[in-house]
Amino acid sequence: MFPKSHVNYAEKCAQPAALFPQKNAELDKALEFISSQSFKNATIERLSGAVKIKTETFDDLGRIGVDRRWEVFYNFHDYLKTSFPLVHERLLVEKINTHGLLYTWQGSRAELKPTVLLAHQDTVPVPSDTIAAWKYPPWSGAYDGKYIWGRGSSDCKNQLIATLETVELLLEAEFKPKRTILLSFGFDEETFGYHGAGNLSEFIHKRYGNDGLAVIIDEGAGFENAWGTTFAKPGAAEKGSANVAITVRSPGGHSSIPPDHTSIGILSELITSIEATQYPTRLYDENPYFTQLQCGAAYSPEFDPKLKKLLSERLRSHNTCTAKTDNLAVEAAKQGLEIKYLLQTSQAVDIISGGVKINALPERAQALVNHRVNVGETAQVVFDRLAELASVVAQKYDLHLHAFDDIEEPFSIILSHGNYLDPAPVTPSDSLAESPFSVLAGTVKAVYGEDVIVTPGIMTGNTDTRFFWHLTKHIFRFAPGYDAEDSQGLGSIHTVNERVSVINHINSVKWFTLFLRNADEAEFE
Ligand SMILES: [Zn+2]
Repeated sequence: MFPKSHVNYAEKCAQPAALFPQKNAELDKALEFISSQSFKNATIERLSGAVKIKTETFDDLGRIGVDRRWEVFYNFHDYLKTSFPLVHERLLVEKINTHGLLYTWQGSRAELKPTVLLAHQDTVPVPSDTIAAWKYPPWSGAYDGKYIWGRGSSDCKNQLIATLETVELLLEAEFKPKRTILLSFGFDEETFGYHGAGNLSEFIHKRYGNDGLAVIIDEGAGFENAWGTTFAKPGAAEKGSANVAITVRSPGGHSSIPPDHTSIGILSELITSIEATQYPTRLYDENPYFTQLQCGAAYSPEFDPKLKKLLSERLRSHNTCTAKTDNLAVEAAKQGLEIKYLLQTSQAVDIISGGVKINALPERAQALVNHRVNVGETAQVVFDRLAELASVVAQKYDLHLHAFDDIEEPFSIILSHGNYLDPAPVTPSDSLAESPFSVLAGTVKAVYGEDVIVTPGIMTGNTDTRFFWHLTKHIFRFAPGYDAEDSQGLGSIHTVNERVSVINHINSVKWFTLFLRNADEAEFE
């Protein structure tokens, strides 16, 4: 028998040292200034002012130039222009599809790929019946001595303002980048992003080509406390997403002489069968949560011994056989739904409709099911499974099945999907060699200290970066601000009482300032 090998977790979750750029009197002074009271006062005013401008986007927005609701973005641009005079004087500012903003700070060495910072100008709307529930009015940008309150304060005008503050400071300190810096701000991220990021990415692609960017930082995951350790979790993966419409067509007629099962009953049976089995809980090797577990095993005092045992078994066996239950994933999922759905495709029947009149049989009933596809699987897995379940019900009621063939006819069950998204390519997170990840991680340590463990994270939702997959392998969805005193973090996005701690915001400016300098000195392409 071979002795059980001991897993070296610290090696599997290598942490780079804190990374500081070369000393430079002017630039270092600029960095120090971020900690001053006068910067604090100014940043509160700038972010609060940005929150006051109601850049809501709606699912039913009409064409740009026709629907007047887009016009608020002109006000937002004017505001940015006044607040960041140097940025607007010295950088190339291009408006893409009217309201998209692309800022280019040309570097001196054209062969280096640009560093790109993304954010979105828009926010989700505030439903009018929720306004009373806000502690401070949602468009007030109120500052209470600790937080700035309002819609967009943490999703993600904070990030947008932080990147502009960073560039303004660096310009003032006479920074001369070797590597080009781009700021790209979409304006409809909350309603799919086609107008904003969709057009921006196309424009940037024409200029820089496939794989033409060094690294992208967009809004996303931040910091998390787990097993007694603080983790920074830049999102290196995104689950996929697929909405499927299930339609049942059956004969109409008077409800006084009904069949045993109407289209609504048949649809209900199919929904019951869909919910009866869930997708498997499975942690594929490429899932960043697998790395986080190894980081936990390496550095966290309270890491669950049972998880550690299963983890070492998994690392020794290299068992990726999908026919077997993934015990490690199942155990990890017990920590809560937030963890479980990092490791499992989700399904949720969210919308249902059918029937028009109480004395008429429903000829058409429909349900919409939302899925978030596990990293390591594809949307096709979802489509295949639904087709299989639907075929059983179709057979039972002698209906045709039209599974994703774009045909709808009477006496049938029809499955269809609109646009869908497979999980994003997973961003490399090697920190042994100098890489965008190691520079990001080293910058986290420089701002927050060596005790914060940096591990790649996974997003259950999608950001504007979905339009940028072909532009670089190095995409991170990362909110670099952290305030240890604020347990809620960026937890109130999309709901009432959205807010951001000013310390969190100031730290994010520090992080961006160091990151741009570090990335400028880095040896990667
Ligand atoms: Zn956002």
